[in-house]
Amino acid sequence: MERKDILSLSFEELSGVIEEMGEKKFRAKQIFSWLHCKKVSDFSQMTDISLSLRTKLGEKYCINSLKIVRRLESKRDNTLKYLCELEDGNHIECVLMEYHHGNSICISTQVGCKMGCTFCASTIAGYRRDLTAGEMLSQVYRIEDNSHRHIDSIVLMGIGEPLDNFDNTCRFLDNISDARGRGMSLRHVSVSTCGIVPRIRELAEKKYGITLSVSLHCPDNEGRSRIMPVNRRYDIDELMKACREYTDATGRRISFEYAVMNGVNDSREDAKKLYGLLKGFMCHVNLIPVNEVKETEYKADRHSVEVFAKMLSDYGLNVTVRRTLGADIDAACGQLRREYEI
Ligand code: SAH
Repeated sequence: MERKDILSLSFEELSGVIEEMGEKKFRAKQIFSWLHCKKVSDFSQMTDISLSLRTKLGEKYCINSLKIVRRLESKRDNTLKYLCELEDGNHIECVLMEYHHGNSICISTQVGCKMGCTFCASTIAGYRRDLTAGEMLSQVYRIEDNSHRHIDSIVLMGIGEPLDNFDNTCRFLDNISDARGRGMSLRHVSVSTCGIVPRIRELAEKKYGITLSVSLHCPDNEGRSRIMPVNRRYDIDELMKACREYTDATGRRISFEYAVMNGVNDSREDAKKLYGLLKGFMCHVNLIPVNEVKETEYKADRHSVEVFAKMLSDYGLNVTVRRTLGADIDAACGQLRREYEI
């Protein structure tokens, strides 16, 4: 029988398992803390748990410990890129970044991606499978230990579309914020989506304190459908409607991501249309100079990004330009892959 990943269990589920094994309820608290605070990777490390319970747990469950196969360090900015191997031999990448306000980890939510955005490396080799909540948690815990850097914030912006793996993403958010474990404030967690409208609505109902980032990248349907196939299914009108509902339901401002690509989405007309879409909306525009992906032709230079940013701020939009981290090790937005060359 294949062992289940115990990190994916919620506290309540773990309590149920422990009780079923005929053990006292408080053991669940101890074990949850071993898993999510002390971040053990083996049942034998749970020293205040009896050998018999550890053995019983080990028969049915594993602690997902992904294997770090490679670590690259940026010479420019201390960014670390990790290549990790999952139990079934699949690979994902994650990135640890240093900011003045602390360390932030960018984790993957799927092996590959099916969304097909034309500028993104993560989708080129296609989609394999969803990650479990335990595999998402393991990225945070294992990399925190490996790097000896405390992780202060998490962004679900690595490989994959988090809202296409909705249940596991929610499970991850529930577990990482559970006060009986790590108790991380969801104010320090961002979830990024290419715009899966029904899932944005479902997420709104959960009323998590996360920051929702929406990858917009183009202010009109024709252009957006060309670079983001998801727009053919949920167009900009529908997307903006769901975003408004999200803000109304949660009181949280949305961050719109916009990868600036020369000659694709950075004209004066684009700025005007973007303003038309976002005016009066409680939001933030985050411009990302498009990162180079060898299979594509998209380019951006610092100057044209600054010019575009100025056009938007002249309209009164709240806009920032994201600092590119880890570009020398292909660790920047849209550069992560499930396929790799050693
Ligand atoms: N699937 C999710 C999260 C993963 S991508 C999403 O689409 O939002 C994280 C962010 O990087 C998204 O905003 C994505 O559009 C952006 N991105 C992808 N490729 C990029 C590239 N080559 N340059 C800059 N940003 C890119």
